[in-house]
Amino acid sequence: MNPESAASERAVNLGRHRRACTVCRHPECAEIEAAFVAWESAATISAQHGIADRATVYRHAHALGLFDKRRRNIRAALERIIEKAGDVDVTASAVVSAVQAYAKINAAGEWIERTETVSLNQLFEKMSTPELEEYAQSGTLPAWFRSTVGATADDSRGGESYDE
Ligand SMILES: [Zn+2]
Repeated sequence: MNPESAASERAVNLGRHRRACTVCRHPECAEIEAAFVAWESAATISAQHGIADRATVYRHAHALGLFDKRRRNIRAALERIIEKAGDVDVTASAVVSAVQAYAKINAAGEWIERTETVSLNQLFEKMSTPELEEYAQSGTLPAWFRSTVGATADDSRGGESYDE
């Protein structure tokens, strides 16, 4: 399938979705989407906004590509865990690993693992000033950095899950 016909098929599917979807027609649609991307549970979202069930939220999220957005927003999920440490009984080790994971994920949601063979600090020293500025502003590492460090992709780290 060429990209254009794939795009037009998506448009048709989206049109069909919008006609049937209570989230699309919901006055708080934008808030619902923001909550989903921030890893709020679909059950909580549906209860808070008077939506029939969480499946409706998931269907909407699929149709609008929110799963991808949410996956890139892994920092928000970790923030929720770290934040909860104050008021519920999260084990200390869960909080510590969330903090460590948070520190390893750059702004683009990519996992940067320190390895024995590569010194990240040395690589940072090799970066030019514009590259460092770019990294500071957007979290984007230069392409050569990625290929040196190797596996930073988070693709292998779990897919979509319907479990709460
Ligand atoms: Zn919808």
